[in-house]
Amino acid sequence: MNVETEAVILKTQKYKEYDEIITVFTKKFGKVNMFARSSKRIKSPLLSGTQLFGYVDMEIDLRESGTKLFNSKIKKSYYKFSEDLSKYYFASYICELIEKTQQENQTDTRLFSMIIEVFEHIEKGNCNLKLLRLIFELQLLKSLGITPNLSNCNICNSTDTDILKHIDIYQGSIVCENCVKNNKLNVYRLDKNLIRFIKYVYNNDIDKSLNVKIADILLEQLDKFIQVYMCSHFGNLNINSYLIVKEEEKINDNIRKN
Ligand SMILES: [Zn+2]
Repeated sequence: MNVETEAVILKTQKYKEYDEIITVFTKKFGKVNMFARSSKRIKSPLLSGTQLFGYVDMEIDLRESGTKLFNSKIKKSYYKFSEDLSKYYFASYICELIEKTQQENQTDTRLFSMIIEVFEHIEKGNCNLKLLRLIFELQLLKSLGITPNLSNCNICNSTDTDILKHIDIYQGSIVCENCVKNNKLNVYRLDKNLIRFIKYVYNNDIDKSLNVKIADILLEQLDKFIQVYMCSHFGNLNINSYLIVKEEEKINDNIRKN
């Protein structure tokens, strides 16, 4: 069955001399691995439509026994990311994160749009990439169905923001100070302003969230929290590009400060 869909190229792996196995995130079918015959040949009509980070219109033969790529036309190429290491690593990280957290054939059009939106921000280069990454990761938690509940204590239902400072990692919910004292819980303490920021991100789009002024130290706290939280829900995802992205962020932080 041949079907058409928009897609983003997440990963390409050479297979034999001219063929490739590519992993894409499609608008209609979520993540799909597929075989691209002869896509590495110079004259192949698939050549430009199978470039890493490409936003494409594709026609695929979707089968359980193995999906094949028939046609792929580039809508927008983000290939120029490779000319700027920060951009390249950042986009690679986003792709790896999607590849490792998404199940095959699970549609998520919201996530699809967010990937394109993030790529547009990377291309323009007008925002704090670390902030963009963390906003994207928070939104990804929502897509994965594990948005932390930040509105009321998981145990006593208190909504008093003065005492709601800990997140029960396994339950994915905020817990008040009193309940933390009275129960043995695996909790992670977050700054009050950070909790407010996370709520803001979940109630607003990426553009608006990017305009928030937030201290670096809180972003670091958020980064650690998301890592611990993701790990407790999915185990170690082994995102290889994470450490590289962190290094790049440190370099950029130093440039901004000096
Ligand atoms: Zn409580």
